[in-house]
Amino acid sequence: MKYIQNPLGVPRRPRLACSAPRTPKRRTAAHSKGFATHRAHGVSRSVWSATPPVAFDSARNAVCRQFRRNGILVEAPPTTRFPAPSGAASPRTTKMPALTGLICAGRAFPQRWRPSRTSCVSGGRCAISQKTERRRGFTLLELLTVIAVIAILAALLLPLLGRAKDRAKSMYCLNNNRQLTLAWLSYANDNRRLANNSGRREMLRQYHRKGFNNWVNAVMDWTRSEQNTNLAYIRNGQLGPYLRAPAVFRCPAADTFLSAPQRAAGWSWRSRSFSMNGFVGTFLSNGVPAVVNERNPFLPWKRQFIALTDIRNPAGTYVFIDEHPDTLNDAYFWINSEGWADLPGSLHNRGANLSYSDGHCERHQWRSAQTVAPVRFRRDRAWHPTDKLARSDLGWLLDHATQDAR
Ligand SMILES: [Zn+2]
Repeated sequence: MKYIQNPLGVPRRPRLACSAPRTPKRRTAAHSKGFATHRAHGVSRSVWSATPPVAFDSARNAVCRQFRRNGILVEAPPTTRFPAPSGAASPRTTKMPALTGLICAGRAFPQRWRPSRTSCVSGGRCAISQKTERRRGFTLLELLTVIAVIAILAALLLPLLGRAKDRAKSMYCLNNNRQLTLAWLSYANDNRRLANNSGRREMLRQYHRKGFNNWVNAVMDWTRSEQNTNLAYIRNGQLGPYLRAPAVFRCPAADTFLSAPQRAAGWSWRSRSFSMNGFVGTFLSNGVPAVVNERNPFLPWKRQFIALTDIRNPAGTYVFIDEHPDTLNDAYFWINSEGWADLPGSLHNRGANLSYSDGHCERHQWRSAQTVAPVRFRRDRAWHPTDKLARSDLGWLLDHATQDAR
């Protein structure tokens, strides 16, 4: 058995050679140009035998026959006769297709190069162009470039995805707020007065007496009190019959805020995150209305709205609001001209969603960083704004809560 001359001078095992490529099985544009390119791996397997080609360096004006094996390109003149493989049943010789005009010299190439259709030039050596070759893999530089591009795209897209998620939660919150407001309007039309809106003391009094004489009855806190999750206090409230889904009483953005004991208990939400404007509805004390002459019991120079007809500016008077998770307790959102007794929520891009007594809902963005307080999982009592923007936020909300008493 003959061995192929390795251009690098290293003895190698017998090469596979073309045995019967009279009609190449894969005709490509290269064949029509006057030469054929064979791939040793797989594609034209049937035309290869274990017999090496002969007379590699004798061809001039012959067709380049490129055979690639283990990174080595060899050539054979077209008139070379190839004996049958040793051990074959019958001797067989085959004449290579006679094509003229191209000469190719054998040459060793790196493993990553493949013979191309343009690798042979007339009257010269094999010229493999890097530009026209296909590579078998990526270089380290290319991989690093791809990784860097993916990292840049991720850095650009992840904040956008986060903002889109926040926007979706805000829309969900606005929808819940609107459904609450429609229920509140339906109750007002049915009863010719607004739903009761009492404070924490009255709500707890009703809780212990199992009464439900408020628009909603559960008092929220950071403990494991069943009032945080018992939906009966929502369904049995004055607005409960007007709403099918208790989930509309809370904002999806507030679901992520649970204290450590509540998380340990496996909770995934608290049943309510909205509160009602403290200047809207009848305020009860010991079961008795505490509103005299439609004046707020704590700020007598401000109006307390008892019926829908009392509200002179429905589009500018809010009803429900996202409340800050730390100040959320009763359902009575209370502020005065001095400061926040309850703090508005700021979970929607530094803003809160509010619904108004005409039925429309919208987000309001707070101007001061003081108003956008982080959640600390503790009850923060009355808090007084100290900078101009914070006082502006407080003034805006008070202006949209009530009017001066007549
Ligand atoms: Zn919300």
